[in-house]
Amino acid sequence: MTVWDDLVGQEALVETLGNVVAAADRVLQGEKATGMTHAWLFTGPPGSGRSTAARAFAAALQCDRGGCGECLSCRTSLAGSHADISALVTEQAVIGVDDARDSVRRAALSPSGRRWQVMIVEDADRLTDRAADALLKSVEEPPPRTVWLLCAPTAEDVLPTIRSRCRCLVLRTPPSEAIADYLVRRHDVSSALASFTARAAQGHIGRARALAVDEGTRNRRREVLRIPGQLSGLGSCLNAASNILDAATEEARPRSDTLDAKEQSDLQLAYGAGTRGVSTTGHAAAAKELQRRQRLRAKRIVRDSIDRTLLDLASYYRDVVTVQLGSGGELVNEELRHEVDTMSRSTSGEATTRRLRAIFATRELLEGEIAPLLALESLMISLRGADG
Ligand SMILES: [Zn+2]
Repeated sequence: MTVWDDLVGQEALVETLGNVVAAADRVLQGEKATGMTHAWLFTGPPGSGRSTAARAFAAALQCDRGGCGECLSCRTSLAGSHADISALVTEQAVIGVDDARDSVRRAALSPSGRRWQVMIVEDADRLTDRAADALLKSVEEPPPRTVWLLCAPTAEDVLPTIRSRCRCLVLRTPPSEAIADYLVRRHDVSSALASFTARAAQGHIGRARALAVDEGTRNRRREVLRIPGQLSGLGSCLNAASNILDAATEEARPRSDTLDAKEQSDLQLAYGAGTRGVSTTGHAAAAKELQRRQRLRAKRIVRDSIDRTLLDLASYYRDVVTVQLGSGGELVNEELRHEVDTMSRSTSGEATTRRLRAIFATRELLEGEIAPLLALESLMISLRGADG
C-alpha cells in the first residue's frame, strides 16, 4: 500500500503529486528543483476527497520514500498524529481569527523532524476575513520548511488575496466504478452493495461509505425515495415534510451530542471547574458562548442532513427525466425503475424539470435563515404539482 490508496478516482492528481514530492525531496537535499512550492489549494466538489488528498500529500512529504504508506512516519501521518503535520479543522460554520493565529504561530516553528512543517486548513472557504488576513503573510512567505495545504470546494470560495498565493490542484468527481472498487477494497463491502451505494451517492465518497456500511442510512434513503409516489393531497405533503425534518434531526443528534460532550469537558478542564477559587464569571461567559456555538452547529448538521435528502430526491427526478428523454442508460435508482417508469408516463418532462428546479431552489433557501419545516412543506407541495 501507499499513502495514495484512499484517493478515489484521482489518478492524474496522484501522478502530479508524486512529481511534486520528488521535487520537494530534491529541495531538502539542497538542490535547485522546480515543482515544489509552499502553498497549495486543493479544490473539488463535496465528497471528492479534498482533505484526504491533502493528508496523503502531507504524509508523502514527510516520508523518506515518497509516501510508502508503511514506515512510522507514514503511519503516524495517516493516523493524524505526526508531530510536524497540523490541521486546522472546524465543526463550526466559520474559522475565526484566534484559530488562524494559532496556526500561524505553529507555522513559524521549524519542523521537529528533518523534513517539513505541514499546515493543513480543511475548510479554507470558512475562514472569516480577519482569519484569512491573519494567515495571509505566512501563506505568502512561510519559513523555508513550512508548507500550507488549503482545501475548499472551488478556488472562488477562498479570498483572492489567499488564493493568488496558492498553486491550485483540482479533484474531479470520482466515478462510481472507482468508488465501488474502493468500498470493496477498503471496507470489505460486497461488490453488489458497493456498486449500488456508489451509484446512489453520485460521486460523494463519504456518503457512499455511509450507505455501504450503515443499514440505517440505507433505510432512510429508501424512505426518502418513496416520497415522490406518496404526494397526493395536501395532508400527505405536510406529512412528508415533517417526516424529512424528523429523520434529519434524529440523524444529526448523535453527532451533535458527541461533539458537544467533548467541548464541554474541554471547557471544564480549561476552567478547572469544581476547583476552589477559580473565577466562575469567566467560566459562565465561556459556557454561554459555547452553548451559542453548539446551537448553531446543531442547526447546521440538521440542515446538512436535509440537504442529502434533497439530493436523493433530485436523483429520483433526474431518473424520471432520463426515462422521459428516452436516452436509455442506467438510472441512479435502477432498483426503482418500475416506479420511475410509472411517474415518467404520468407527467411531462417540463413538469419534472420544474420539480428539479424547486428542489435546487429549496437547497439554496435552506442555506439562509428560513425555517426548514416551512421550506420543506412548500417544496413538497410543488413536487406534487398540478399537472398530474
Ligand atoms: Zn513512508
